[in-house]
Amino acid sequence: MKCPYCGAENVEAVKRWEMPKMGYRVTHYRCKHCGGLFNHYVGKGREFVLRVRPRRIQGG
Ligand SMILES: [Zn+2]
Repeated sequence: MKCPYCGAENVEAVKRWEMPKMGYRVTHYRCKHCGGLFNHYVGKGREFVLRVRPRRIQGG
């Protein structure tokens, strides 16, 4: 698994859950390199990655 933010492969799976209605299995990852969070969806021969939030959030 590659980080969609920085491309590093140094990511860890934080948690997993199922989306039975959609037929997807979701894994939530955190990149150890940049701290980016993203979800990996797998199901029915498809898979894709969605970014959960930007690498940095500036308050205010
Ligand atoms: Zn990263």
